Amino acid sequence: MTYDPNNIFARIIRGEIPCNKVYEDEYALAFHDIAPQAPVHVLVIPKGEYLSFDDFSKSAPAEAMAGFYRAAQKVAEQLGLQEKGYRALANTGADAHQEVMHYHLHLFAGCDLGSMIKKGLV
Ligand code: AMP
Repeated sequence: MTYDPNNIFARIIRGEIPCNKVYEDEYALAFHDIAPQAPVHVLVIPKGEYLSFDDFSKSAPAEAMAGFYRAAQKVAEQLGLQEKGYRALANTGADAHQEVMHYHLHLFAGCDLGSMIKKGLV
């Protein structure tokens, strides 16, 4: 699969579509999810063109990776999520129902998030 530069998150980075911004630096942008699944549901996305966790982890330069994960941690700190905890999750590919093909980390918080995967699959 090739990266589509007109995917919705690429358009948000370019300012073509608005977002409810939480944090931005040279490596990452974070904004509230449009359809939150927890009291706090923020998406952190890298500024570079990466399809998924898999693509980002394999292809991004070390500086971009460190910058991105440091930014994600800063978002959690800025929102005060550490005290009660939060979940960082990256859907990757079809079985995980990844909808937007620009790598993003979901940060969920603000309530007891339950067990890791709700449906018992094994
Ligand atoms: P995923 O299934 O991991 O690809 O998640 C994509 C997420 O992007 C979903 O939780 C959507 O609600 C969210 N989303 C889609 N469009 C927007 C948007 N314009 N602004 C904020 N969040 C969005």
